[in-house]
Amino acid sequence: MNQPWAFIATCDLVGHVRGRSGPFPKIIESGEGVGWVPADLAMSAFGGIASPNAFGALGDLRLIPDKEATAIFPSTFEDGVSTRFYLAHQRNIDGTPWGPCPRTFMDSAIEKLEKAFGIEVMASFEHEFALERADGDEIGGLPFGFDAYRNADEFSQELLRILIDNGFDPETFLPEYGTGQFEVTIAPAPARIAADRAIMLREIVRDTAKRFNLRATFAPLLGPERVGNGVHVHLSLWRDGSPITYSQTRAGNLSVEAESAFAGILEHARAIVALTSSSQISFMRLQPHRWSAGGICIAKQNREALLRICPQVTIKSADVSKSFNIEYRAADATANPWIVIGTLLHAMHEGLSSKLSIAHIIDEEIEDSQEVKAMPVTLDEALVALSTDTTVQSWFDPVLLDTFIGIRASEVKELQSLTPQERCNRYVSVY
Ligand code: GLU
Ligand code: MG
Repeated sequence: MNQPWAFIATCDLVGHVRGRSGPFPKIIESGEGVGWVPADLAMSAFGGIASPNAFGALGDLRLIPDKEATAIFPSTFEDGVSTRFYLAHQRNIDGTPWGPCPRTFMDSAIEKLEKAFGIEVMASFEHEFALERADGDEIGGLPFGFDAYRNADEFSQELLRILIDNGFDPETFLPEYGTGQFEVTIAPAPARIAADRAIMLREIVRDTAKRFNLRATFAPLLGPERVGNGVHVHLSLWRDGSPITYSQTRAGNLSVEAESAFAGILEHARAIVALTSSSQISFMRLQPHRWSAGGICIAKQNREALLRICPQVTIKSADVSKSFNIEYRAADATANPWIVIGTLLHAMHEGLSSKLSIAHIIDEEIEDSQEVKAMPVTLDEALVALSTDTTVQSWFDPVLLDTFIGIRASEVKELQSLTPQERCNRYVSVY
């Protein structure tokens, strides 16, 4: 086969990428996409379709590719052709939006914020993942070590080449603290593009690892005592191309609008984390002293806070307004980036509409503060918070939300007899 082929994909409610392929460019230019099945949205992390679900055997959809949301994957074998990869909306067969489509959910939040406040959010995803050799041997090397970096040299050079060629603008690649753990960060971009790139980056990392006889996993934990793999999302607000997050004089350097927007996230955090850290093992990571997100608060340069006010580097310029941003630390790769961005932006819109304010910006370690609220300690607790927060529920198509809760409930049942280590192993095998 020397005809290029295109894979048209969606990212589902458990963050997995699924789709169908066809001849390139015909399949993209036709404007009619490829067929898709509503019940596919009810797939659990481990493969089966959660039951009951709203769809059953009925209905048909189209995956309509977005020509802007694309990447080229090199062939997996010598002399093969590369694969064109496109992300898609799930639409009805007459082309109208399909309510439960997670990308449509994200669009609704982006449009709402823009329409009501003229605000555009720039976002940047930081991904941590673990690498091991395909036979299970460790990559080896010190935490943050040059030796660890060099042990992954072939992989990282190819990974960065693919990211650069696809215009993802990688900023750093580093050996992290955990055994075989690495992190890759990409430059800020408009929120929709950032979320699309997050989805594609995970596929590129796993795919590239395989080509070098390695295994990459984004599972939030590899074992109860292991270092977590987080997904941190950096956010800043912009209007008419100018940054509006920063104030030189106000508490935490947050402008009035930024304060309200981030207060919206804090206000609904207990429900929001169910949507951004959505697996049965996610909440083993979100504990104090793991530098993940040990408590619900906003804090200056604090890696235990749900929202971290990032440092303002003034080495080259005193004007920090363009780079000033806030980091949401309680996401992981078991959540769909479209849902993550959609949820955070809906919460920001809510905070701005209700003119919420932030009572305390934490300056100390979170255990020394009386003002930090507890994170849910299990996904069940977070799902209860979600099912009692009618504001958060109102952001969603009801079928999308019911399906999401149904899938995660089916995973509770599937894993209930397993030990914590066995649960981690199950997620490692699919993320
Ligand atoms: N590994 C930590 C997490 O689970 C993050 C450490 C860091 O600040 O980079 O989120
Ligand atoms: Mg890190």
